[in-house]
Formats: sequence, C-alpha cells, structure tokens
Amino acid sequence: MLQTIFRTHTCGELRPSDINQMTTLCGWVHRVRDKGSLIWVDLRDRYGITQLVAEEGKTQPEILQQLKSLGREFVIQATGKVIERVSKNPNLSTGDIEIWVEKLELLNPAKTPPFLIEDETDGGDELRMQLRYLDLRRNVVRKNLELRHQVNQATRQYLDSLGFMDVETPVLIKSTPEGARDFVVPSRMHPGQFYALPQSPQTFKQILMVAGIDRYYQIVKCFRDEDLRADRQPEFTQIDCEMAFVTQADVLQTFEGLIRSIFKTVKNIDLPPLPVMTYADAMRLYGSDKPDLRFGMEFVELTQLAQGKGFGVFDQAEAVLAICAKGCAHYTRKQLDELTEFVKRPQIGAKGLVYVRYNEDGSLKSSVDKFYTEADLTAWVKATQAQKGDLILVLSGTLAATRKQLSELRLEMGTQLGLRNKNRYVAHWIVDFPLVEWDEEAQRWFAMHHPFTSPKPEDIPLIESDLGAVRANAYDMVINGVEVGGGSIRIHDKGLQNTMLRKLGFSAEEAQAQFGFLMDAFEYGAPPHGGIAFGFDRLCALLGGADSIRDFIAFPKNNAGRDVMINSPSPIDAAQLKELGITTTQK
Ligand code: ASP
Repeated sequence: MLQTIFRTHTCGELRPSDINQMTTLCGWVHRVRDKGSLIWVDLRDRYGITQLVAEEGKTQPEILQQLKSLGREFVIQATGKVIERVSKNPNLSTGDIEIWVEKLELLNPAKTPPFLIEDETDGGDELRMQLRYLDLRRNVVRKNLELRHQVNQATRQYLDSLGFMDVETPVLIKSTPEGARDFVVPSRMHPGQFYALPQSPQTFKQILMVAGIDRYYQIVKCFRDEDLRADRQPEFTQIDCEMAFVTQADVLQTFEGLIRSIFKTVKNIDLPPLPVMTYADAMRLYGSDKPDLRFGMEFVELTQLAQGKGFGVFDQAEAVLAICAKGCAHYTRKQLDELTEFVKRPQIGAKGLVYVRYNEDGSLKSSVDKFYTEADLTAWVKATQAQKGDLILVLSGTLAATRKQLSELRLEMGTQLGLRNKNRYVAHWIVDFPLVEWDEEAQRWFAMHHPFTSPKPEDIPLIESDLGAVRANAYDMVINGVEVGGGSIRIHDKGLQNTMLRKLGFSAEEAQAQFGFLMDAFEYGAPPHGGIAFGFDRLCALLGGADSIRDFIAFPKNNAGRDVMINSPSPIDAAQLKELGITTTQK
C-alpha cells in the first residue's frame, strides 16, 4: 500500500497470504530477544510490529552479528522472506508470520531512550514532553493524533458537503474582545505598535458574511493568554463556523448534524437528536450551564420546607437545595465526613453539608435531627422523591453559590455511583443565556458570550430598562458536562452594535477605534448571520475518552505554558529587542 524504493510493506501489513513473498521493511527496533542460537527482533513503525527472525547456522554470520548488535530504537531496513510463525501471537495483526532475515541495513543507530516506548511507560510528564518525538512513537499517543486527524477529516467532509467554504483569516490582527488577554507581537516596522494574535476569528468571519461568503468554516488556531488549567492551552484549535441568512434553529440543526456525523464516522455511534434546554432550567435543575446529563440527580428546592424550624443556617440562606443520591443511605460516617470535606474545599467553598439517610427500614436519620421532626424530614423525602435506601444531601447559602457547590457535589456523587461512563455520550444544547453578566470588581457589565451576540428580538426593549434580564440569542453545545461548542446569532445592525458596546462600557471613541471596521461594514449590506465555534482539542479528548486535551495535541505546552522541547518562551537578544523598538530593564 505504501510501497517505496525503501520498503515494500509496512510493519503492520503482512499476513499469512504473504507467506513466501520477499519483503523489505523499515522501522525502529522495538525489542531484541537473543536466545543464543535464535534471535528475534520486533520491528516497529506507525502501522504495527513485525517479528524478524534469524538462526545460527542458517543465517549468514555477518547478519547474525548485525542483529545481535542492534539496540532499542535503532532504525533499520530488513529484507527477507515472509514465513509462517511457529508460535503465533494473536495480539498482533502480523502475529501469524515472521520475516526470515536475509539482508540488514542499519539506517541509523539510536541512543537508548530514557523511557519505555510502550503503552504503559515509565517516563514522567516533563521528560516525555521534552522528548516528545519518542513519546509520539508510543501507540497510545499516536492513536490520539490519528483520532484527531479523523475528526478533522469528518468535519471537513460534512461541512464541505453543505457548501461551507474554508477561508483562512489572518493570525497577525488586533485585539478581539473574547474576554481573555491577548498575546501580542511587536511590529518592527512600526515601533511601539503591536499585532495581537486572534482569540478567535470572530470579527473576520462576520466580515466574510458581509462579503457574501454565506457559509464559512476554518479549523483554526486561536490564542488566549489565560492562566492555565488542566484542559487549557495558550494556543488551541477551533472548528470555527459562520452562516448567513439563518435563524438559531438553522444553526442548531446544522451543527447538531456536524457532531452526529463526527460521532458516526469516528466512533460509529448514533447520537440521538440533541435536546434543547434553557440556561434558566439548566441552572435551576443542575446549577450549571454545562450539566452532565448522563445522569439525573436534579436539584430540589427545599427553601420553604426547611426554613422557620429554628435551624439558623437554613433560615438565613437565600436558598436551600438538595439532591437525592440513589442507594447511598448506607454511606458510613466516614464517607459522609469525606463528602463534607469535599464541599468545604476552598475551590468549592461550602460551609457544611446536611444529610438525611432514608434507611431501608423506612427510618430517617439526619445531621439536623435537633431541628427537624420526622414529619419535617418526611416532607423533604417527598419533595426529593427519595426512596428507601437513598441519601438526601443538602446545601444552603446564596442561590448562586449554593447552585455552584451543589453542582460539584452532584458530579462527585455521579462519579461515585459510576454514572459517568466515558464511553456513553449524552449531548444537548443550552440556549437563552443572559446577554450580559455583572462584574462586581470592575463594576460593569460584561458580555457573557461576546459583544457581537444579538439579544433575543423580544428582549431588545429591555436593553434600556433591565439589561441584566436580556437573553442572548446564544447557544452552547454540551456533551457529558463538557462545553464543546458555543455561538450565537450576531448583531448585524450598526446602531444596535453601537448601543451594545456603549452598554459594555466602551466610549464612542473606543468603540469606533476598536470595532469601527465592523460597524462600517454593517453599513454596506450586512446579512443576518450567526455561527458557532467548537473546541477541537476538547472534542477530540472527549471522543478519545480522556480528560486532558494535551494528549490530543502533537506538541502541547506544559502547565506553566512552556514548550519544554524547544524551551519556549525564551529571551531574545538585545539586538533583536532594539530592532523591535523594545527597551527592557531586565538583564
Ligand atoms: N468566537 C466565539 C468563541 O470563540 C464563537 C462564536 O461565537 O462563534 O467562543
């Protein structure tokens, strides 16, 4: 299949039907087993492993000697006859055959790698990243890149079939306000001036709509200078899309189609049609705008039932919310203490956790028995629809904080109960997000999505009277509790765009300076339009059943934002700085 002058076959290709054929294989020495008179070499390439064999007395002594001197990861070319293997290896696609070596060419020796090139390796993270080329030789890592390639191909195929056109947008641009910090690039030709790397091609894709490219997509690098978290990278890839002459329903249908097509092609999974849930419902029922719907465990509001019984904590709370953990009444004191510790961790920040055990024998036992009678607790059981054997977990405080905390606890209980199977996928849409959110610190409104998102038409009158209540014509796609994509119908009217920017704290001058080009474009016949962007790395990680996007990026940055292979970022020399017109006090 991949025949060249160098090799006739790959190391994953030969089968019993090839027996007696001459073959030439190239690859890396995976393992040498030298039994004295018999010697075997596992030769590995991207496609698999093929066993080479030679025998004292039958194989030419020079070749035998050559084979014996091979070390791990040496690059060789081996020629010989395909023969039937005596002890077959059913775990290997080539396990029925081996190659009787008749000629061997050492193409390049190798230093012994400092970690095993195996699925289970002994190399630490940092070392593997430093020698990423060795890490990438490992099956598990390469498979992730193969999956990424398949997702890429499936995406292009689907979008192309619907008339989407791949258009490249520039990487040296100016600030796009997606809410994160920009990476900037100094301009040599314009000292003191900077390009910014795109946080997304947002304004360009909208300009393309004005330009009449009514279906655009791009699988594109985006850059955000944010504090790093496990599943964040300073540069990451989006499947970025935009369409003209569409409603929200059109966009949802089109991209639901994309995701279903990717799942079908890559995983052979038929995702059912995606349910649509409002932001308000998601927050009320799961305390999160990206709920994991692989399991229920919906929130139940106990505020009314729990207040006025003398328990100060609940009486003073804005909200008392509960979840029912099926079959967990048997949780021991220790387990409950651990759950309490879990919600009290600083990242979650609850003050404490109240529980009610609804025991198998029908009795009720709570951590607040002092304040609540059996009848009170029975009312909680009713409200939460708890069954015998279930455990009710209750948190309280301000509504926003309690939702967030209980959402974490819900996920933890989902995990403990084995309800978050990585091989099961539940996808859905969240719609009707608030257009803006108030930032206490900055004392101003911020766009929840970005400033180009259109309000829902029926909420436009509220912009002046009650901005916080305006709903956005925006949507997110969530799979297994992971936000895989998000987008919106855009504003395409200069006046409305201007109003929005002013509401977000831009002065008329700032708005003009930053987005004049877009608003000017809106005056030359801008079609109604909307779009979406998917986090490509995250989508791949999800399809690969992994938590970290790093495993799906060929050359990722580490937790400190460094590329440890090329050692970047790094200082640049004084002459270069001078040329760029940058002065620095650092040595
Ligand atoms: N540009 C947006 C983002 O990066 C996505 C969109 O609205 O299409 O999140």
